[in-house]
Amino acid sequence: QVLNEFLNLKGNIRVLCRIRPIAIGENFGRFRPVVALDSSNVLLRLTDSKNKSYSFDNVFRPGSSQDEVFSEVEPVIKSALDGYNACIFAYGQTGTGKTFTMEGTPEFPGVVPRAIEALFRQAVDSNHVFLFSFSMLEIYMGNLRDLLIPQPTKAMDPLPPCLSIQSDPNGGIEIENLVAIQVSDFNQALKLYKLGCRFRSTASTNCNSTSSRSHCLIRISITCSGAPERRRETNKVWFVDLGGSERLLKTKAWGRRLEEGKAINLSLSSLGDVISALQNRKSHVPYRNSKLTQVLKDSLGQDSKTLMLVHISPNEEDLCETVCSLNFATRVR
Ligand code: ADP
Ligand code: MG
Repeated sequence: QVLNEFLNLKGNIRVLCRIRPIAIGENFGRFRPVVALDSSNVLLRLTDSKNKSYSFDNVFRPGSSQDEVFSEVEPVIKSALDGYNACIFAYGQTGTGKTFTMEGTPEFPGVVPRAIEALFRQAVDSNHVFLFSFSMLEIYMGNLRDLLIPQPTKAMDPLPPCLSIQSDPNGGIEIENLVAIQVSDFNQALKLYKLGCRFRSTASTNCNSTSSRSHCLIRISITCSGAPERRRETNKVWFVDLGGSERLLKTKAWGRRLEEGKAINLSLSSLGDVISALQNRKSHVPYRNSKLTQVLKDSLGQDSKTLMLVHISPNEEDLCETVCSLNFATRVR
């Protein structure tokens, strides 16, 4: 046990990089500024003579499969069944493959469906009885919206009320009235997930926005009673498809777009502050600075497992955003 704790200390937060492939017709035959050197280093070609190298816990090249990415997630799922809290984040500029990694496509399923499958499979193989419940929400402009509640179909219809966060004296947090549906097999959970994904896109259409301007969070709560070796009786695993990290200047945003961008940037930088404080073992961790970090407060830090998947584009035109994303990665590693 003591040895386990010791080994767990390092590696509670792993920072990974995924470079998306060049799309057909994009930048054909032109200079590629981003190169995966090996499985832990990314080389950025700033100019012909200036390179910068960034190190990660693991790097996925453009040709890496969803399987390879999931191999990093599987041990986290295993820890979740042992009672550890966990957070898996997809970070990056819009269009770099965050949703491809988390949700995937019918042909190439991503982290979330694979993780749900692994949870049920590993639970069946264990000697214990587990209860799983599924929740899904969106954080848009600092408001929390339940994604398992039908969203209005017409733009003029009122939106369901926003959820609020309550903290308890033990440092735990509760999202008031968040729907949590008990799921007993893979198909049930997958159905809810698909429903949530559909409500997510309806909600963003109604706000005249796109889903890239909100954070999408999936929570799976795991309860297992009568297993004294487990870390805690009930724990949570979060899957977070973060809002696009692109800065405002490039998007020439104004009005609502500008406000959306500000909200995203603020919450991404507070997430960076929190993880960096945890990594540096600071006594004060600034969870209160954004809704995102408040929601994740009791699942980030302490003994919980965190995977940060930083997505970047290989395209020369995205160089500035790529530098920003790699700097974020360096800050949280
Ligand atoms: P984001 O969610 O970061 O805005 P998406 O996941 O929507 O980006 O990806 C943009 C497009 O690129 C999608 O059509 C997606 O299928 C494709 N794509 C992204 N990453 C990969 C990858 N590793 N392999 C194949 N296609 C990818
Ligand atoms: Mg997306």
